[in-house]
Amino acid sequence: MKVMKFGGTSVGSPQRIKNVATLISGKGKNMIVLSAMSGTTNSLIEISEAVKADDPQLACKLISSLEERYSGVIEELLTTQDARERTRTIVADFFNDIRHTISSPESPLLEKQIVARGEMISTNLMHAYLHECGVNSVLLPALDFMRTDEHGEPDLPYISKHLNQLLEENPEADMYITQGFICLDHEGNIHNLERGGSDYTASLIGAAIMAEEIEIWTDIDGMHNNDPRFVDGTKPVRNLHFEEAAELAYFGAKILHPTCILPAKINNIPVRLLNTMEPDAPGTLIDNNLRSACIKAVAAKDNITAIKIKSGRMLLAYGFLKKVFEIFEKYETAIDMITTSEVGVSVTVDNERNLDRIVEELHRFGTVTIDRNMTIICVVGDLEWQNRGFEAKALDALRDIPVRMISYGGSNYNISFLIKAEDKTRALRALSAEIFA
Ligand code: ADP
Ligand code: ASP
Ligand code: MG
Repeated sequence: MKVMKFGGTSVGSPQRIKNVATLISGKGKNMIVLSAMSGTTNSLIEISEAVKADDPQLACKLISSLEERYSGVIEELLTTQDARERTRTIVADFFNDIRHTISSPESPLLEKQIVARGEMISTNLMHAYLHECGVNSVLLPALDFMRTDEHGEPDLPYISKHLNQLLEENPEADMYITQGFICLDHEGNIHNLERGGSDYTASLIGAAIMAEEIEIWTDIDGMHNNDPRFVDGTKPVRNLHFEEAAELAYFGAKILHPTCILPAKINNIPVRLLNTMEPDAPGTLIDNNLRSACIKAVAAKDNITAIKIKSGRMLLAYGFLKKVFEIFEKYETAIDMITTSEVGVSVTVDNERNLDRIVEELHRFGTVTIDRNMTIICVVGDLEWQNRGFEAKALDALRDIPVRMISYGGSNYNISFLIKAEDKTRALRALSAEIFA
């Protein structure tokens, strides 16, 4: 059995839902994971923001306009009166749930409850359409098996036990459909796996059922060698090692959510990135095989803050870095990049939630300098240190761009450069011209 996950754009209109239905119908008894139709999660977040801002009138207006969009979708998607009626009732119930939820605005989990309806609606639409086409799909509600533990991490033994039980109870299905993104927390409240988390759902399901393959179907033909939103002429990369894909996803390649690599890698389940609009294109295969010593791709991660701690006390001292890292640990702030010298250390973080407190404590060690609005440019490939020339090539490409930090050697798979956000597009284009032209 394969897991096939379709993102928001792939199910973003009645015609796209029909295309996906055709695509999955010929492919056997698989597990289909769907995102909400594109734009829906954003609209649902807007609704909950309006409630939080104490503007119930705006919330109600937004709910009605989204509901109207869906009534148009149902009309266009389904043909029989019976299927339309049934689906209208199901979708109306979801919108009434949202209205009911906003009537108690003080609930801390309000947003989670509201956004969950997006995936519930899209899966019901697909299910209804497949049935109209004579396909016996079975809808498995994600909330019946997808759960996080008390640390907020997916509870894989629970997920595996409950999902496999559901599969056993429904042997007659032509295929199974479920929602990406949504889950229950350890107390049984509706929760989610964060924005873009449907990829994670697919990977967790893959691990839970030991799938033959996890397919991530989206609007582009695989992982490109640079960010197509900023660089023209990018090309798909045919093969990536899990570690290479993890670096790219973590450092900004939006096509893949970074969390989705680990469950697949641990269980050695290949991940394939495919294009719904071009289903025959080969896409990108991600697995545990490392092919060829070369640079595969470049990605960029925005909203980075650099912190430099300069200290005479670091000279010939041991235990200095430990004390610095303990402060970041205390304030639950992850460090992305790090470079050191004899008199100081520079690190980067991607959230400033506790930055003031961190800086206050770091002052104990010496001078602290902050650079905001920075971008990490990550060059990824089989960059094992014996493979010569790659650092020189990347550095050469960036010769006209001021570089604040360089990090290499932490893994065999990446070289990272910290630059000003305003130089990002120029840097990405320069790297493509130098490396992939
Ligand atoms: P989905 O809604 O299917 O999950 P996403 O929008 O999350 O899709 O991811 C697909 C988008 O990722 C593409 O449309 C593309 O603009 C963007 N993207 C960013 N970097 C890359 C890259 N290196 N390769 C391919 N796509 C990328
Ligand atoms: N619908 C959710 C989002 O827009 C989850 C996903 O699409 O992966 O973030
Ligand atoms: Mg995505």
